[in-house]
Amino acid sequence: PIALGEPAPRRSLQARVVWGERVVTIGGDAPVRVQSMTNTDTEDVIGTAIQVKELAIAGSELVRITVNTPEAAAAVPAIREQLDRMGIDVPLVGDFHYNGHRLLTDFPEMAQALSKYRINPGNVGKGDKKDRQFAMMVEAAVKHDKAIRIGVNWGSLDQELLARLMDENQRRARPWEARQVMYEALIQSVLESAAAAVELGMNPAQIIPSCKVSGVQDLVAVYRALRPRCDYPLHLGLTEAGMGTKGTVASAAALAVLLQQGIGDTIRVSLTPQPGEARTQEVVVALEILQALGLRSFVPSVTACPGCGRTTSTTFQELAKQIDDYLRAQMPVWRVRYPGVETMKVAVMGCIVNGPGESKHADIGISLPGTGEAPAAPVFIDGEKALTLRGEGIATEFQAIVEQYIER
Ligand code: SF4
Repeated sequence: PIALGEPAPRRSLQARVVWGERVVTIGGDAPVRVQSMTNTDTEDVIGTAIQVKELAIAGSELVRITVNTPEAAAAVPAIREQLDRMGIDVPLVGDFHYNGHRLLTDFPEMAQALSKYRINPGNVGKGDKKDRQFAMMVEAAVKHDKAIRIGVNWGSLDQELLARLMDENQRRARPWEARQVMYEALIQSVLESAAAAVELGMNPAQIIPSCKVSGVQDLVAVYRALRPRCDYPLHLGLTEAGMGTKGTVASAAALAVLLQQGIGDTIRVSLTPQPGEARTQEVVVALEILQALGLRSFVPSVTACPGCGRTTSTTFQELAKQIDDYLRAQMPVWRVRYPGVETMKVAVMGCIVNGPGESKHADIGISLPGTGEAPAAPVFIDGEKALTLRGEGIATEFQAIVEQYIER
């Protein structure tokens, strides 16, 4: 059953992803971590370092970069150096497919500059070679003391395993549906690979599995089946979620169900940026999901009503946006100056129907006058009516009151 009122506790081992003094814990009692991935060519050292910096500043606590060629592998230490020079200590995760075993062996400086390796068992070698190539990647992680993500994806699922499970399924008294076989193949692939990594000397706490699919119900089903079968910290994300509103809503829907059930220790929202949209948007969405669920707080939240025929003007919409923009813009400084400010709640409401009530639930709120109401805007502070604003300067005065409240 889903817990009412608060998310179920998460239970897993705790991984440590380290760069220099920076330690990002994943799982156990650590907060759910946000991560993202660059879309630059890793050979482009400056372009990649700039995007990693942007993602880190937006709130990404780990950033993954693709390491797909010898040239990209050779660029990784230089990217790390650029970031260190810029004072960005976010740990880097290397994304490996097909040739990771060779790159991690041939480029030891790259293996050291990364803090975590992503291994996709679905495209590590074939047949006998598969075990050896997988072992080479795990041995690199053990040697350099790095965490690994064993990330299976239904777009690159281990075909030999899938065929075997299909065969076995035919012999079941009651064959599963094809989907169940696919779920089981994803889970077995990740668990068999994790067990093999442990045999090769990996600390189980440093193994972070993921089973990514692109359907909301499929993701929920796979992770609900996976969680009771292991205690590794889990990486959670809906893969290829899509663009814009569709991708945002699908990711929020899937992640919310699982996080509420205590499943998922680090998340990535995989959005396809629309033309002109910043890559950092996926980080913003991830932060908003965690904040909306009450799992973490990153910025004071502004509650605003949608407005309706009772609102006399768009003043309250403008005020809500102005306050929201203002609070977000101040956060880099405020986070340091006023610890805990990110949990603050501000309400900006359009009329007397829900205005005073919602404002009282916030730390500070204002109820603007609606149609037929006296031109007065009561301000509520800590649940009590504190003063009433009137006239043209309501927006500016309210912002000043919010600032004073925060300073106090
Ligand atoms: Fe409409 Fe007032 Fe409700 Fe806002 S609070 S949506 S203005 S009735």
